[in-house]
Amino acid sequence: MQNFAVRQRGDVASSFEYVEGWGMAIGAHARVLRPRSTEEILRAFELARRDGVSLALRGGGNSYGDASVNERGYVLDISRMDRVLAFDRESGVVVAEPGVTIEKLWKTILPHGFWPRVVSGTMFPTLAGALAANIHGKNNFAVGTIGDACREFDIVLPTGELRTCSRERNADLFHAAIGGFGLLGCFSRIVLETKHIYSGNVRVRGISTRNLREMMQYFEANKTRADYLVGWIDCFPGGDDSGRGLIHDAEYLKPGEDAHPEDTLRIAHQELPANIMGLFPKSQVWRILSLFNTDLGMRSINAAKYVAGMLEGLGEPYLQSHAGFSFLLDYVPNWKWAYGRQRVDRGLIQYQPFVPDAVAHEVHTELLARCRKVGQVPYLGVFKRHRPDPFWLTHAVDGWSFALDFKVTPTRRAQLWKLCDELTEVVIAAGGRFYFAKDAVVAAEDTARFLPHDKLAAFAKLKRACDPETLLDGNLYRRAFRDWLVAS
Ligand SMILES: Cc1cc2nc3c(=O)[nH]c(=O)nc-3n(C[C@H](O)[C@H](O)[C@H](O)COP(=O)(O)OP(=O)(O)OC[C@H]3O[C@@H](n4cnc5c(N)ncnc54)[C@H](O)[C@@H]3O)c2cc1C
Repeated sequence: MQNFAVRQRGDVASSFEYVEGWGMAIGAHARVLRPRSTEEILRAFELARRDGVSLALRGGGNSYGDASVNERGYVLDISRMDRVLAFDRESGVVVAEPGVTIEKLWKTILPHGFWPRVVSGTMFPTLAGALAANIHGKNNFAVGTIGDACREFDIVLPTGELRTCSRERNADLFHAAIGGFGLLGCFSRIVLETKHIYSGNVRVRGISTRNLREMMQYFEANKTRADYLVGWIDCFPGGDDSGRGLIHDAEYLKPGEDAHPEDTLRIAHQELPANIMGLFPKSQVWRILSLFNTDLGMRSINAAKYVAGMLEGLGEPYLQSHAGFSFLLDYVPNWKWAYGRQRVDRGLIQYQPFVPDAVAHEVHTELLARCRKVGQVPYLGVFKRHRPDPFWLTHAVDGWSFALDFKVTPTRRAQLWKLCDELTEVVIAAGGRFYFAKDAVVAAEDTARFLPHDKLAAFAKLKRACDPETLLDGNLYRRAFRDWLVAS
């Protein structure tokens, strides 16, 4: 976010800024309010009401699309409410303010032998943003989403009420606000369970796979043993090589397997090195990547990565720190800048369909073929296995997701959106779902087709009760929710 002016608005710090999604392809100017307490959240609601504008809630701004962008009102950024309030060293239960990041969480608990049960591929999201999106990790098939690790939260409603929610108390609001993308109220306190670990390392195997079928067979054969499974896919080749890639399979170390947990559980052991091969600063790697950010360049990089993966697949399992394994994408700071830095021509979108197990191979193969046919091949493809969860608007299914990164330029944009519309038809016809933390393209009529109607109707009823004036109304709400919520 670029800062234009900072001032106090009714005691809530605020400034006028350009606020964009992580993928940089979607953004807008907005006044950003930065509360430091529950009272200031309430005051921010009052300010928006008084000024006759809507509010979008924002955490760390790591959603790729428009989930925390608001071009017609204010943005309420909770990142300054970032204190860990309590941590029980016996049970691993953490009580935190909403703006605590995943990074701050793991750095607080790791030295005591705990690790977050669910993390995203980057450590920069806040707990509120993670809970609002109901994020999943590379272990979704085994442990569910972050919502499954949440015991309780406090939420401030636009009506001015503060509700404590859990599976036993205000259970409807608990299951709707987790994965509810900040449309019902603002989390102000979060209670999470974390996992006891016996080492700061995980044991990792690389497995090279010749096509999507092989990758899926490996996941299925190993999903009851492995703690984490994630597949990287080279989206360029077609035919027999379609979906070729590399799996990373990781397991926690059992008690006694790490002879020196006191060393590996130190934060210093987890930190990623600042230089590559001790020489080249990582902070500059995006400049080199930008030279390859063309179809030809990315075809070459993907092919080289596939060959490197084949060699890795021949090697023995190795130990890697939790942070190194979990946050691989953070290894190259600002890698997204390789997609351009000028506001007019930059950015990427991620398109991540979740498809039921029975048809996943056929559907994902079809999606890739359609991308290749129109010459819009994703530069990065990541494959994961999921399981259902009880949250009303969840993206997770008993099936598989394929996260596809597409480059956005002025010349590609219209054709790319048209392609995504076509892919969306294929996914919805197959009973698939989408994930609003990644999405930038799905329309309200699509949302109404892929989410269960009883859950949508119940969510609409809660929205009317929690937010009767529709104060919480950002770009994502207007694009993907408003029409069906109003109609329900
Ligand atoms: C490189 C990269 C890798 C990623 N990998 C994964 C992954 O592996 N798995 C995964 O699931 N996701 C992944 N994500 C997506 C990311 O985890 C989610 O977008 C997450 O929601 C970001 O949190 P944030 O704090 O940045 O929130 P933002 O992006 O700022 O906001 C996300 C949502 O939270 C809402 N919100 C913010 N604060 C509050 C609040 N106090 N109360 C209620 N609602 C609120 C916002 O309105 C918005 O709808 C990845 C993102 C990136 C950039």
